[in-house]
Order: sequence, then structure tokens, then C-alpha cells
Amino acid sequence: MSKRYAGIAWTETGYRVEVLDDAGRQVVGPSGWSGGQVAELIGWLRELGDGQEAPAVVLDSTNGLLDGPMTAAGLEVYRADPWLLPPRPGFGSVTAVQLAEQARTAPGALARVTAEGGTLTGRAEEFFAGVERGEPARAALTAAGGCFDHGRRDDPRVALTFDDGPDPVFTRQVVEILERYGARATFFCVGHHVAALPDEVRRIAAAGHELGNHSWSHPYLPDLTPAELREQLDRTAEELDRVGGAAPTWFRPPYGALTPEVLAALDGYPTTLTMWDVDARDWSRPGPEQIAATVLEGAGPGSVVLMHEGAGDRAQTVQALPSIVEGLLERGLELVTVGELAATPDAA
Ligand SMILES: [Zn+2]
Repeated sequence: MSKRYAGIAWTETGYRVEVLDDAGRQVVGPSGWSGGQVAELIGWLRELGDGQEAPAVVLDSTNGLLDGPMTAAGLEVYRADPWLLPPRPGFGSVTAVQLAEQARTAPGALARVTAEGGTLTGRAEEFFAGVERGEPARAALTAAGGCFDHGRRDDPRVALTFDDGPDPVFTRQVVEILERYGARATFFCVGHHVAALPDEVRRIAAAGHELGNHSWSHPYLPDLTPAELREQLDRTAEELDRVGGAAPTWFRPPYGALTPEVLAALDGYPTTLTMWDVDARDWSRPGPEQIAATVLEGAGPGSVVLMHEGAGDRAQTVQALPSIVEGLLERGLELVTVGELAATPDAA
């Protein structure tokens, strides 16, 4: 059987999928999926294998929402970087056919995305160099109150944050656990999921948690033009306002990719950048015990903890959460939103 490639594009309304064989013939007709149907899309791709290997999935670097769940499900996932692809529309990736064609005609140019390497597999060096170049500007912004990493170290409160949702399965589980302990948290949502799963967003807001902006499609920000970057933020803010009842105050950059160019493009944007001082590294699925240990060893008064409840298999995060909450409460730390933690006078 010939090699087959499933190009997956993102659009304003969801995903478009085109599956080609290595001769460029359509294996099935093009299909469309909503941002809330990722599990169904994965099931469909596996069935296309008909007992054999499922088609290889091809994404671009403006889409960080599918590689996690797809690599976790055992699919072969590739990333086509912008220098390989034709120009994008103002909002959305190149087409599904263009992605599949790129893979079919020059498969060696693609990066194979692994679960361990994450979305940016193969670009880690470039990523770290860019963040390092951005460090002086970021430090200046932090000092000026435009970027928030943690609260005061004498403030016995911690902000848990959950990124990449909402999610059809894990959001409600996280909300239920937090509710059990009377804990509040901040959910940095992606617009693509907000539009597809408005009820989950309302569930978060109704439980008293805070909603933050995490871009629309979870792109690698350095690959976007300044206009594209602002479009990602504006559309997500509008959607959160429409569904959740308030425009977000906080923006967390996907991957924390704050290069000088990204910081310049965000200059004057009316939301505060939000980073973290404790990374649970739950996306690498090291086991619930390890996730809880990482958080409990790293967190203290004023901490902002980075975790994930969407765009992947977050069962380990959910399993770790009760131990994390209990461990922090036992130390006398109160669990609050980012907004509450940052509102402390003289936060530094
Ligand atoms: Zn994220």
C-alpha cells in the first residue's frame, strides 16, 4: 500500500482535512471538523488505515492544537514550516491540499513531531535562542508591570493556571476537583476551542474561575506577522467576551515564545503578558506522581503554576490535581486567580 498523507488546515470555523496518496490522488473526499471534534477526527484517521497504517498527519507551525492528542494516540505527525509553504491567508493556515502536497512531494523537508519533543520538535535551539534574545526586553516589561511571572514571595497564595482548553472531557473534571476544595484558578483558553465548546467556557466562568487569552490556534508566534499575531489575540478576546461575558485581562503566549520581534508586535496591546514560575511539565505525561511532585517542590508563596487541561491527553494532570491542591492547602497557601494574585499591592 502506498504512503498516504492527511493535510490538516485550520480555518475560522474548524479543521479541513484532505488525504492524498503518494501519487497525489484523493484517498477520500475533503472533510471538515469542528475544534471540539478532535477525538472523532483521530478515530476517523485510524479507520482510514483499514487495519493498516493510518495516514501520516501534516500540520503547519500556526497550529499547536493537534500534535499533542495525535502523537499520544500513536499517529505519525509531521510539521511543515513556513519557508516550505505558500503564503497563508490573513487568518488560518495554508490549505489542507497544500499541506498534503508538500508532504507528498518533499517528505524529507518535514519535521517529525514526537510526544517528547512537542510541537516545536527540531526547532528547540532556535526557540531558546529567540527567548534569550528577548530576555532584556521582557525583563524591562516585567519591571514596568507589563509582564507577570509570580506574585509577592510573602503572599501566602498561589495561582494555578490551565492552558490550551477548553476541552470536551478534561475541563469539567478540573472544574469539579477545584470546586471540591473551594479553589479558584485561571484558564488560558484558545479561541479555536472557545468557539467550538462555549458550554465548557461558561462552566469555567460560572464556577468563579478566570478566563485568559492563549491565542486562537496556538501558533508558534515568531512565525506570524505582527498583523496575524494581533488577529489571533483580538479574535480570541472577542470570542471570550461573547461567550464568557468579559474580555480577558491576561495573555499567555503559546510556548512562552517571547522573542524581541514578538514583544515588539505586542507593544501597547491591552492585556498583560502572563508567564509562570513553576512548570508542571504535564504535557510530557511523566505520570501523575511526577507532575504532583514537580509542582509541590517548585511552588511557594506567590507562585504561578503552569498546567494544561486541553489539546492533549490530560488524564495525568487530572489525576495529579487533588494531590497538588491538598499539598498546597496543607502549607496554608490559598489558591486564587492570576488577577487576584497580581492585585496584591506592590506585587513584584
Ligand atoms: Zn499552550
